[in-house]
Amino acid sequence: MEIERHEYDVVVIGAGGAGLRAAIEARQQGKRTAIVCKSLFGKAHTVMAEGGAAAAMGNVNSDDNWMVHFRDTMRGGKFLNNWRMAELHAKEAPDRVWELEAWGALFDRTKDGKISQRNFGGHEYPRLAHVGDRTGLELIRTLQQRVVALQQEDERLHGDAEAYIKVFQECTVTRLLKDDEGAISGAFGYWRENGRLILFDAPAVVLATGGIGKSYVVTSNSWEYTGDGHALALLAGAKLINMEFIQFHPTGMVWPPSVRGILVTESVRGDGGVLRNSEGKRFMFDYIPEVFKDKYATTEEEGDRWYTDQANNRRPPELLPRDEVARAINSEVKAGRGSPQGGVFLDVSSRLPAAEIIRRLPSMHHQFKELADVDITAEPMQVGPTCHYIMGGVEVDADTGAADVPGLFAAGEVSGGMHGSNRLGGNSLSDLLVFGRRAGAGAASYVNGLAARPQVSEESVAAAKAEALAPLERSGENPYEVHQELQRTMNELVGIIRKAEEVTEALEGVEKLKERAHGVGATGSRIYNPGWHLCLDLRNMLLVSECVAKAALIRQESRGGHTRDDFPGMSPEWRRKILVCGLSPDGSDVTVEEKAQPAMRDDLITLFDRAELKKYITEEELADFDALVK
Ligand code: FAD
Repeated sequence: MEIERHEYDVVVIGAGGAGLRAAIEARQQGKRTAIVCKSLFGKAHTVMAEGGAAAAMGNVNSDDNWMVHFRDTMRGGKFLNNWRMAELHAKEAPDRVWELEAWGALFDRTKDGKISQRNFGGHEYPRLAHVGDRTGLELIRTLQQRVVALQQEDERLHGDAEAYIKVFQECTVTRLLKDDEGAISGAFGYWRENGRLILFDAPAVVLATGGIGKSYVVTSNSWEYTGDGHALALLAGAKLINMEFIQFHPTGMVWPPSVRGILVTESVRGDGGVLRNSEGKRFMFDYIPEVFKDKYATTEEEGDRWYTDQANNRRPPELLPRDEVARAINSEVKAGRGSPQGGVFLDVSSRLPAAEIIRRLPSMHHQFKELADVDITAEPMQVGPTCHYIMGGVEVDADTGAADVPGLFAAGEVSGGMHGSNRLGGNSLSDLLVFGRRAGAGAASYVNGLAARPQVSEESVAAAKAEALAPLERSGENPYEVHQELQRTMNELVGIIRKAEEVTEALEGVEKLKERAHGVGATGSRIYNPGWHLCLDLRNMLLVSECVAKAALIRQESRGGHTRDDFPGMSPEWRRKILVCGLSPDGSDVTVEEKAQPAMRDDLITLFDRAELKKYITEEELADFDALVK
């Protein structure tokens, strides 16, 4: 059977914010670039982002700057973040947002005509540049428009619009290929529509495939989030870090069952919405953790005043980082104070006039009306935690996005480190732009430095082809059954609250599912066959689930998106360690190793007060800090 072949300098896998920004950069640096995405072009996950992109532009509060943003990001990630990434992100996010505006993005404005910025959990000042609650759509629209503008330029210059940048949509990559020296030489995949096989011959690959949510039952993520990039990186010999940290967004829809998990944006709370239990109590005041005590209002009156006077009041605890709010909701429901359908109440109807709600939150109004027959201008929503985002991902060099395998780069949700143990809302869209650009530049510069192009070996192509077609050649178990069992296992045993026995049980379950996955098969032909596609996706979901569960079992503390019932506290010793996942030599098992977290640069650590650092770092580190500031 013929395999369609293409030759590029850089292949970007994923057409969300990270992939598009990387591709634009690689093309702007003169590289022939392919953008490959398994969904339709324009239907990346980024489109679903509602709240906005965090960037310390200081448009609404001029006290904001990159140092405040850096501090908020480190605090949100409970100091486990790769500090160099957090630094680059805080410094460069404003430029990336202004650049988007220059490329045609239409952000909401302040009264004096600047880009408007809204409040979000964990951000000290209003910081999220937004377009109503449809920011991701505008971001993708603008980046796509930029791709088209570059193609028009290529049409003028070379007589071929696709000479330097071409989109391959509905095309799934199943393997990265390497040469005999271990460098990336290409990528292999199939067209979803007709099942034809396709090979990209390229010395550099940028992974921008997003997250892993489809390993869980209740998730805000859509069908593409099967951890493909995470698995492709592992299989190519790269490392994944921080895989135990999964963000359960506090507010997903809980009713009706068919829409369970769909996101209710944090903007509802940023714009004044409050959480109440079945007794009508604003319970978040009971859940302010010690590390945040001085930063959050302790009375409803103060919290309410903050919306109009931020200089003299502290923010309401509904705007604590997501991990805190999700755990609080979980506790209220477990204590029997939940809403009728097993969530809690999120009320904006008694807080803002109806017209204002419709103006500020049009998508939420529409979503609840259409999906749940609830009018959010007149009654509260019922919400509960939903698997939303993975902080863990490919270990990359902060400045270039380079992974441990020559020629492999990663950016966006598939990469790890930037957000530590918990991501602040709004920090993903800015992350995509900052590190997408850097990974595109990193890939271009890597290609410039190559003496010779790595060669695709025909054996690796034959192996990738055999692997891709195997499920069609056996009438094995139904892949949907294996998938459902995996989702249930992860949701119930490696979910928002974890304990050793349950995670161990999950790992035993995953082992059995791995065996079963070897035998799954799909009936029918290669023409648009979702059963076949799922057989291939299962390998990826099982690999990432094994990483999540193994790392979750090893980390004996609770921090951010990893809560251990049997180790409830945060440990300064554990903060110094990162868990690194790799593959055993025969490729059959995930291995996990501890690695020391590099010490923060002096000029960055001195941005924090001693009193705050004391909550996170060891006595030894504190002594170093004291010596530094003496
Ligand atoms: P994506 O945008 O998901 O793109 C992934 C791409 O990879 C897709 O094109 C997909 O088709 C492709 N792909 C995947 N696997 C393969 C494969 N094997 N072969 C080929 N292509 C592949 N963050 C914020 O900062 N602010 C917000 O307001 C916000 N709101 C959110 C709301 C919702 C409902 C959700 C789910 C997330 C939200 N987030 C928000 C998080 C943020 O949207 C995501 O983290 C971010 O968009 C991820 O972007 P990405 O470029 O890494 O991946």
